[in-house]
Amino acid sequence: MKKEKLTVVGGGMTGLAAAYFAAKAGHSVTLLEGSDKVGGLLNTFEIGGNQLEHYYHHFFMQDAELHWLMKELGLEDDIIYTKTSMGVFRNGKIYGFNGALDLLKFKPVSFFDKIRFGFTSLYLGKVADWRKSEHIPTLKWFYKWAGKGMTEALWKPMLDIKFGPYADKVPLAWMIGRLAQRLNSRNDGDEKLAYIKGSWKTLLDKIVKELELLGVEIKTQEPLLEIQHEEGEVKGIKTAKGEYVGGKYLITIPSVYFEKVKGLPLSFGGNGVTYFGAVCTILEMNRSLSNIYWMNVADEGFPFGGVIEHTNMIPKEEYEGSHIVYLSRYFAMSEDLAQMSEDEIKERMIPPLKRINPAFSEDWIKKVYVFKTSTAATVCDLDFSKRVPYCETDLKNLYVANMAHIYPDERSTNNSIRVAAEACKVMGIDTSYVPYGASLSAKIGF
Ligand SMILES: Cc1cc2nc3c(=O)[nH]c(=O)nc-3n(C[C@H](O)[C@H](O)[C@H](O)COP(=O)(O)OP(=O)(O)OC[C@H]3O[C@@H](n4cnc5c(N)ncnc54)[C@H](O)[C@@H]3O)c2cc1C
Repeated sequence: MKKEKLTVVGGGMTGLAAAYFAAKAGHSVTLLEGSDKVGGLLNTFEIGGNQLEHYYHHFFMQDAELHWLMKELGLEDDIIYTKTSMGVFRNGKIYGFNGALDLLKFKPVSFFDKIRFGFTSLYLGKVADWRKSEHIPTLKWFYKWAGKGMTEALWKPMLDIKFGPYADKVPLAWMIGRLAQRLNSRNDGDEKLAYIKGSWKTLLDKIVKELELLGVEIKTQEPLLEIQHEEGEVKGIKTAKGEYVGGKYLITIPSVYFEKVKGLPLSFGGNGVTYFGAVCTILEMNRSLSNIYWMNVADEGFPFGGVIEHTNMIPKEEYEGSHIVYLSRYFAMSEDLAQMSEDEIKERMIPPLKRINPAFSEDWIKKVYVFKTSTAATVCDLDFSKRVPYCETDLKNLYVANMAHIYPDERSTNNSIRVAAEACKVMGIDTSYVPYGASLSAKIGF
């Protein structure tokens, strides 16, 4: 096979996986990352003598691509599976939400609404076709078919918190992707989630080591600045530190950064893909907040939408006995959270915890960490598929693959691997050995 040159721009999971596939196929690969380390949204920090993700991370039993990668890298035995509990905070009370029995005990809605909830969720997760549902607003559909009770107790708060001002524009296709993923990960009514021993750093460190063994040149602090092209063909690219000439180029950075890159054609990056942000306030505590791993907050007036108690998935002993809780909130870039300082965020997030657990006292907190990103997910509004760019661009040798290609599925590490595999296929690199799981991603633009 002819050894070709490939330059991958962006060292998140999409870029790392693409570099791996190409290097494995014998190509000569350079990976350029703009920041001082690869990993993107998967990066971790030290807490309680261990490593933890800036943004909560777990994966699902049916994530075939990620399971494959873990095995491929010899990390199969580092996967931890845990039966986790899910809950909803509604009308000032925590309700378990893990199966039919919990649904029956969920007081905020009527029995009739519960039946409708069960049928509509099953229909969306198991039967509905996302292709026919791109133009339908999720909330409108829920009000009509799931009823007002459940929509206002569960679905609306969930979408409000996740999409802010865009909540009423989220297409049903996205909800189908999300429910298909969640429902397929259930096991006898108990949700089993997967995590990695030593955090996702274990995966990042191993893939970097393998890339180096395969001869991939990994360069950090090399943000892409310019694409140089002549007569419809890319001849080279410029970063803050140097120039890379020849071969193919795969851009995996978030689309919002494209406008900072000189020389990109207008058609590049699809039809106006935008992103929204996320802030995770992480509490290291000497007491547990609740016995739930994943709690959706469905009452009004909270600054966070999810309370994710990591140590209800991974034992606190892994963190020298500390209990670890993420308070998660997604925000539009026009919201004040986008500009708030760490201290302002802490002041906003911590006091309302007393409503979740009246015994909570700030004395429980040993340390607080705040992480914020402006590229947590793409804003997928109605008919989003029309915005998704083609992986093969108008410029010869230039390709793009990023989170926009994950739609209509939920963005995830697994789906980044799928997108990378499909992008490599478009560039003529064989990735047929990567198992195709339940992922709905990489269906558009390839
Ligand atoms: C709050 C939150 C929770 C999540 N939870 C989960 C979960 O539970 N499970 C799961 O599987 N996934 C989860 N995800 C999603 C997962 O992290 C992402 O889908 C995945 O990491 C995206 O990888 P990526 O390579 O597409 O993008 P990114 O990780 O954003 O990587 C892009 C890279 O490009 C670099 N870059 C940017 N500009 C330039 C430039 N000009 N030149 C060069 N490099 C540049 C960036 O520095 C970055 O390293 C979560 C994400 C968030 C935000």
